[in-house]
Amino acid sequence: MAPASFAALLRTAHLDLGIYEDLYKHLHSHPELSNQEKETAETAAAFLARLGDYEIVRDIGGHGFAAVLRNGPGKTVLLRSDLDGLPIKEETGLPYASTVRQVNQEGEEKPVMHACGHDMHITCLLGAAEVLLALRASWSGTLVLVFQPAEERGTGAKAMIDDGLYDRVPVPDYVLGQHIMPMRAGSVGCRPGTIMAAADSFKVTLFGRGGHGSAPHRTVDPVVMASNLVVRLQNIVSREIDPNEMAVVTVGSLQAGHAENVIVDHAELGLDVRSVTPSVRDHIVGAIKRMVEAESVASGAKKKPVIVQTRHFPVTDNDKGMTESLSASFTEYFGNRFDPNTPRVNVAEDFPVLASSQGRPSVFWFFGGVEPSLWDEKVAAGKVLDEIPSNHSSLFAPALHPTMQTGIDALCIGALTFFGR
Ligand SMILES: [Zn+2]
Ligand SMILES: [Zn+2]
Repeated sequence: MAPASFAALLRTAHLDLGIYEDLYKHLHSHPELSNQEKETAETAAAFLARLGDYEIVRDIGGHGFAAVLRNGPGKTVLLRSDLDGLPIKEETGLPYASTVRQVNQEGEEKPVMHACGHDMHITCLLGAAEVLLALRASWSGTLVLVFQPAEERGTGAKAMIDDGLYDRVPVPDYVLGQHIMPMRAGSVGCRPGTIMAAADSFKVTLFGRGGHGSAPHRTVDPVVMASNLVVRLQNIVSREIDPNEMAVVTVGSLQAGHAENVIVDHAELGLDVRSVTPSVRDHIVGAIKRMVEAESVASGAKKKPVIVQTRHFPVTDNDKGMTESLSASFTEYFGNRFDPNTPRVNVAEDFPVLASSQGRPSVFWFFGGVEPSLWDEKVAAGKVLDEIPSNHSSLFAPALHPTMQTGIDALCIGALTFFGR
């Protein structure tokens, strides 16, 4: 007998989306910063606990938690959501907009917003948990759900693993994850190979010698040194990297001095690097070090500059075999709403660590959150890039429908694909 179609199977679960809509709005109006996702994790775990059957393991790597549904012999499939919000003041004007403020790890009070859609990820994963439980007669294996903290800092997945995630839940055969993106709501995109870039961030401190603004000859001016360095760094991508390779070097912050007539003694730069190929990444990192040190020497600075890496996200590389199986399933269910060759993006994720740390394959896909008529209007006007707020914008506001249903369906179909219907 041929297996039931995904559409026929999912229809039998009868999920009440209203409950999930309320949950989403609650999560959206109560965001928490990275490593402070206490209430978020408690809300999600309590929501899952009400289903029964899931074994819940709390406080892994901070506020992360995992849940296991043992459903007979077979493969172990892991589905992942992240939990954290961002230090951004929400300006969407939504009735359920966040007004939350929290003190971050540096001790500064910040406005907080779910500007990356992790609230939608949580909601979709909980919805999928209910559907897969309802459909348990149709599949066999072990389902592991991971709710990960601190994605935005690039540290949460590793923190969960370092805290014994895989001693506390079964090691998965397959690892699956998804992210909401500025695409048409209802659409889904995946691709084999690299779907997201690697990201590396650095803090650079240049030391000069401070003094009076009227006597620059008695100082080593870190403002001039930093200015030269910003321009010099532009040469890495334009002059040192093969134009066929993807590479980004952004100086995202530059701080020095407080007064017009004072030459200060140091300057700080924040650098962001994106790459896809490891050798390109290594070249960029080496070039940054070379230029920072050379600029300091060229300026006659006595004290050596300091470079500290503040973030690292690996490349998200979709396993080819897994992607092929998943794309066949998504094509069956979503039809032309699924793009099997969605463009790679240069944002980054720590999701792959959940699989690569165990030598297991993984696949990650995108689903759209932009209200379909708005999307079509902006596409027709050629204004998608200018006028559709992207993730991390203060105006980021996913349409609830059909975004939520699409995210739930995609997770269920992903899991069922690797359990075998
Ligand atoms: Zn984000
Ligand atoms: Zn995100």
